[in-house]
Amino acid sequence: MKEQNKATRREFLKSATLGAGSLLVCGQTAVAQPGGGRGQTQTQPRSGQQRGPLPIKPENPSIQHHRNRCRNCGRCRIFCQNTTKVFGHAVPSGEDACIGCGQCTHYCTRAITEKYNYPAVAQAVADPNKIVVASTAPAIRVALGDMYRMAPGTNVEGKIVGALKQLGVDHVLDVTFSADLTIMEEASELLQRLDNKAENMPMFTSCCPAWTWFVHLFYPSLKPNLSTVKSPVTIQGALVKTYFAQKMGIAPETITHVALTPCTAKKREILFGMNAAGVSLGKPEMQDVDIALTCREISLLLNERRVDFLQAQDAPYGSLMGAGSGAGMIFGNTGGVMEAALRTAYKLLNGTNPPVEFLELRSVRGLDGVRRATVDLGNRKLNVAVVHGIGVVRPLIESIRNGTEQFDFVEAMACPGGCIGGGGQPIVASANVVRTRELRLNALYQRDAGQTVRLSCDNPQVKAVYDEFLGKPLGEKAKKLLHIERG
Ligand code: SF4
Repeated sequence: MKEQNKATRREFLKSATLGAGSLLVCGQTAVAQPGGGRGQTQTQPRSGQQRGPLPIKPENPSIQHHRNRCRNCGRCRIFCQNTTKVFGHAVPSGEDACIGCGQCTHYCTRAITEKYNYPAVAQAVADPNKIVVASTAPAIRVALGDMYRMAPGTNVEGKIVGALKQLGVDHVLDVTFSADLTIMEEASELLQRLDNKAENMPMFTSCCPAWTWFVHLFYPSLKPNLSTVKSPVTIQGALVKTYFAQKMGIAPETITHVALTPCTAKKREILFGMNAAGVSLGKPEMQDVDIALTCREISLLLNERRVDFLQAQDAPYGSLMGAGSGAGMIFGNTGGVMEAALRTAYKLLNGTNPPVEFLELRSVRGLDGVRRATVDLGNRKLNVAVVHGIGVVRPLIESIRNGTEQFDFVEAMACPGGCIGGGGQPIVASANVVRTRELRLNALYQRDAGQTVRLSCDNPQVKAVYDEFLGKPLGEKAKKLLHIERG
């Protein structure tokens, strides 16, 4: 079995740097449906469109263009303009149109990659004066195995922890913990907005940085609709350098906090305004998250440091900030944030556990580009929508803006399938893309179903962090560390 899974070194490097699918060669084969939902990918220029590659700036923190590998075919530009519907659309003067979603790295696996930050992790691990803390996002546990030819959707979370420990990482934590905190804050904020009959409705989720940047660039008047809650990774960062450091007796400035994510947009997100721990400790130059790696970079790092992932022994997460509920686990799926938020909103509103159907909220699950539902929270009905893939967001936003559709709460994720289809996830051969997304999705739902704790508000570690450190949801300290002004 192990032999079957083992890729040769040459194959491994090819899959890590240029994409696993030999079918996926820029200018030859279109990747099926990377733009979201089940729509077609536009591969030919429309009249008046220019050729040539996307103008990716050298200072772009998320992605990079390798000019020496580029065939100048321009298909990346056409994909971004016509499928993702980002490049070529008007942005405020001086702004770069790239939202950092990284879907182009799946489309042109030859000349566009994430911006590589993994060598900095190797340096931190080798530095005896650094304490390296790694936090793993929900969606990588069902995707990293693809880099090693494991069956799509295999849950490798134990192996990830074991391999990182072997690498020399001091503490491995789970971002599902902070996903639960996101829900505590977001569900509370939603109920508060509903109570206040706030103008800025529907409330939009805010855990996808490519989506929030998209709103910033293209629909700035809707910024007040975004929840003020930060993404789970950045919440994790703020707490690692405050709560975790305090409880573990570690000087926060000696911590190198590494986020292991499915995402290229996180590389940008961690750089701007994400220094809440530093601000609260009088060290504003300290970032909450020092380095964000994609799933593909994890395997590059492990390979470079000669850590054999397939041979790594399973190991558990740390006991502090190392456990999430089932609701935190499904954050990686499109619809997962909505389902998680509604479970906790029900309990906050009624003081009782939600009906059993909230533990498998079929109306918001699946891979249709947009799902709409009316959910009964007991004494209140909510109209909700879930959308994934930036290319299909625009029509939904337009229908909200012109009053054709009315919602209370909208979940939007930039990547098709949500983070399980993230821009930094392993490249998959075009014929297998949809099936792989389904298998990853199912794997996270199964992980949720197998958990004893299914609601974010029931997570004992979350209860402890509020009791011991944060106070209450939407309280003063929680606002300082877990929220951000989006003005
Ligand atoms: Fe990143 Fe997930 Fe958003 Fe994709 S959907 S840009 S992986 S947060």
